[in-house]
Formats: sequence, structure tokens, C-alpha cells
Amino acid sequence: MATWQDRLDRDEVLVIDGATGTELERRGVPMNLASWSGLAVHTHPEVVREVHAAYIDAGAEVIVTNTFGTTRFVLETAGVGDEFEAINRRAVRLAMEARDASGRDVAIAGSISNLPPDMDPGNYPAPDEELQGLRELAALLADCGVDVIALEMLQDTRHAARAMDAALETGLPVWLGVSCRRRPDGQGLVSFDLPNVDFAKPLDALIPMGPAVVNIMHSEIAAVPEAIGMVRDRWSGPLGVYPEIGEFEPPNWRKDVDVAPDDFALHARDWVRLGARLVGGCCGTTPEHIAALDAAFHAPGA
Ligand SMILES: [Zn+2]
Repeated sequence: MATWQDRLDRDEVLVIDGATGTELERRGVPMNLASWSGLAVHTHPEVVREVHAAYIDAGAEVIVTNTFGTTRFVLETAGVGDEFEAINRRAVRLAMEARDASGRDVAIAGSISNLPPDMDPGNYPAPDEELQGLRELAALLADCGVDVIALEMLQDTRHAARAMDAALETGLPVWLGVSCRRRPDGQGLVSFDLPNVDFAKPLDALIPMGPAVVNIMHSEIAAVPEAIGMVRDRWSGPLGVYPEIGEFEPPNWRKDVDVAPDDFALHARDWVRLGARLVGGCCGTTPEHIAALDAAFHAPGA
């Protein structure tokens, strides 16, 4: 049985990778306002492969493809819509090359998000076209041989439900990734980019659709314990946490907020105590953060 499923079945901690986009940026790859890190597989394939390899070396048992912003409708606004298939196939291939070179049993998760064209929610295509675009990406990732679909930064009930539908149609296990932060007044949680959406709303809409895993990802570390409680009220299956550290200033990441790898691992121990079994990092985290998780959960005697 695959390592990732085996770990979860045995109620062990599964370590997943850290940030891909911000790690590419840290290694000098320019980010793009239309598709964020999506073009890196085209312009800097060797760096993408190197980032995946660095996470595997650090101990990640799952790596996530650099396909967060590569639906056809997003790539079209970046001027490379006709490269849709080539870009996504290459993204999966780079992850597979890193895995194969490592000789380790690492699962590959195909990332899909609700990123709107030019990062502007006013630019979503019509609902039918949006669903079609999400289906096209999900089917292509499945055809390329990813092990799971990792939905990332789902935050609402409409766009997110379309992504869930598209992912579930592949028949692959679907990891539902939801994002939150504290409400500005400190009372309760809201969706990460949607201060008017109570975090309970996407949970209530999406969890009943049938994911294999629910991940609290790209969320504020300070919001994670309460978020775990909210997911646990609605979900008894596998739960993961891979939060962000820092602040986004489109299309770049500001690292003026930082959490040292050892401190990150201390937080992760709390998440595991609260019931999380998948742990990793999102934007702002590095292979050093993942190495600290590996040491915390998988070192002999850990
Ligand atoms: Zn992130």
C-alpha cells in the first residue's frame, strides 16, 4: 500500500511538503501576476525539479505539483493558453522526476485552486466555463498519473464546489484544502481572503461532498487550533494542517513575518495533539521547515 494511505490507516503522522511557489521565488524565479508561479515549469523547469527534490530530501512523503494557477482560463490571461497541456504535463513530470531520482515512495498530489485570472475575483469566467476549466485540469492531472488531487485555498461555496465536483469526477482521492484566518475583531474565523465569509460556510458546503482528507492549509498559524475544532465538529476522517507564514503582496511574498523551523515543528506538535495527522507547510515555508517536521515525527525515538 502507498505510504501516504498506510500512514493514515495506522493513525501515524504523514509529512507533506512545504511551499512551492514562494520557494521558487526565494530561489530567484520571477512570479507572474496572471498565474503566480504557474509559468515556472516553462521558464525554470530545473528549479521546479530542484524544489521538489529538496522537499523529498527533507523528508516529505507527499509533494504537490506546481499547478496551483494553471487552469486554461488562468493561463490564457498569462498569454499561454495554448500551452495548457504542455505546462501541466511538464509540472507533473518534474515532480515525478524528482521522486524517481530519490528512489523513495513519495506520493504526488496534483494541486488545483480557485485562483481567478489575474488574481482578480471579478475575472472569473462564466460558471459553466469555470467548471469546464477545472474539469479539464483535474482530468489532465489524473491522466498524468498523480496519486491524489489536492484542492487548495478553497474559501467559498460556489467556486469551491465547482473545484470539488471537478476533482471528485476523476475518481482519485480528493484532499480538500480550506483556508482561514482570524476575524479582524478576534471573534471566530473567516475565509482567508473573504473577511465576510464565516469559515463554517465552506466547511458545511464542501465536507459533505466526500473528500478523502480535509486540510487546513494556507491559513494563519494563530487560527489553526480553532480551525481544527471547527473541522472536527464536521469531519471524523483524516485531517491535515499546512499553514502559511508571511504576507502576500501580489505577485510576491513578503517574509517579514517568519517562524523558525524548530518553532514551526513545536506548533505542529500541537496540531497533532489536536488530531491532525498530515503536517506540512504552505507559502513562506522552506525545506528546513519540513526537515524539522521530519525530525519531530519520524526521527528514531521521536
Ligand atoms: Zn500558500
